[in-house]
Formats: sequence, structure tokens, C-alpha cells
Amino acid sequence: TPDVRPLVAGNWKMNGTRSSLDQIKAISEGVKGELAEKVDALLCPPATLLYVATAICTDSPLALGAQDCHQNVSGAHTGDISAEMIADCFGTYVIVGHSERRADHGESDALVRAKTETANAADLTAIICVGETEEERERGETLQVLKRQLEGSIPDGARAERTVVAYEPVWAIGTGLTPSVADVAEAHAFMRRELAARFGAEGQAMRILYGGSVKPSNARDLMAVENVDGALIGGASLKAVDFLAIYDVY
Ligand code: PEP
Repeated sequence: TPDVRPLVAGNWKMNGTRSSLDQIKAISEGVKGELAEKVDALLCPPATLLYVATAICTDSPLALGAQDCHQNVSGAHTGDISAEMIADCFGTYVIVGHSERRADHGESDALVRAKTETANAADLTAIICVGETEEERERGETLQVLKRQLEGSIPDGARAERTVVAYEPVWAIGTGLTPSVADVAEAHAFMRRELAARFGAEGQAMRILYGGSVKPSNARDLMAVENVDGALIGGASLKAVDFLAIYDVY
């Protein structure tokens, strides 16, 4: 999208221990060049590594974030982490509504919206994930599903600065399968129209990432699609060389 700064983001999911810090260090070093002037880079390691990761990335433009937060500000929610805790560890982004959380933890659009509001109130940028399942695609419901998820998951008054949308077809995550370039173009153009209709200029400026089996070999074609403003990368973000090869397509 013209005038929109692309974002290349990594989601480590439930992978990574202290022995993986060398990969985070390598990513933080690799995103320091000229490209950093026009492309943002983000890594979301597991929460257990967030604080120590920020300490080793201090002189890098690499942003760090978390993979989820609770919808409440604080309180009796054993095992959850709050938006404030993420910000306190110098995280600046949080992924919300990833399909694995929607599936494993029954997260609804309304819950994802509440998490986004709480994240934004703590000054975190929310990466709101949407995407159809294989069955929904086969039934021809993809755009309908995206419309419902965008309407339900994004709060009223959302601003481009604190809102990123990630289109992640569920059947493309971790499978090596990707939609065709034409299908990605259709979905992203549809989402752009929906966002612009609801949020005006803010919706025009919101970044819409593509996620689902992005790797160095397909990143160039996917990132060249109109209205694709970057990538959300799972598996390929675990290795610094792969993450950086994708970042370097810009
Ligand atoms: C993800 O889970 O956000 C993702 C896109 O995973 P992968 O790149 O491994 O398909």
C-alpha cells in the first residue's frame, strides 16, 4: 500500500528457550541496515524470553512483542499475562486472536476485541489475526468470514498506528500451503475496502499482513501483492537466516 511502512513480523509460538537467544541477537543485528529506514521488523518470542530479549536488542530497530495478552488489566487470572506486563518488559506489540488461540482456547471475536482494547490502552500495537478455515474456503465463505472477524475483532475508533491486521488462512498455517497470489490479492483488497469503509483514512493506512507458510522462497511473490503490507511468519522466523531472507525481499 503506498505510504504504508511494511512490517515483517515473526511469531515463535511455543518455541524457544534461552539457547535460542543467539537467533534473536542475529535477527536484531540483521535488521540494522538501510532497509530499517523503510521496513519495520518485529519478533514475538515466548513471553518467558521477552525481557531478556529486549536487553540484547537495545541498539537494534527490531521491535519485540508478545503472542497474547489477557483482556483484563490485572487480577486473578492464573497463567495469563497482561498488556501492562508486556509493555513493562519493553514489548511494543502483541498478537491477538491468532487462529491457534481461537481454536485451542475458544477465543471469540468479542474476546479478541476486548484484548485489543486492553492492549491499545497500554500503548501496545495489536496484531489482530483473521482467516478462514479450509471448510469455510471450500464453501465459498472466505470473504464473509473475514468481514465478520474484522467487524467483531477490531474495536471502534481503531487507529492505524496501533492496529495491524494479519490475514492468516487457517489451512495455510504450518502446512507449507499458500493461497494463490490472486486469492491473496482478492482477500487483501476486500479487507482494505472493509477497513476504509469503517475507519476512513485510518483504515487506508492500517497495515494488512499476510501469514501462512511464508518462507524465503515465496516471500517475494506474496509481498508484491497489492495491499499486502508485510508478513507474519511462524516456522520460518525461528531461524535468523530465514527471517532475514524474508525481510530482505523489501
Ligand atoms: C503463524 O502462525 O502466524 C504462521 C503464519 O505460521 P507459519 O508461518 O509457520 O505457517
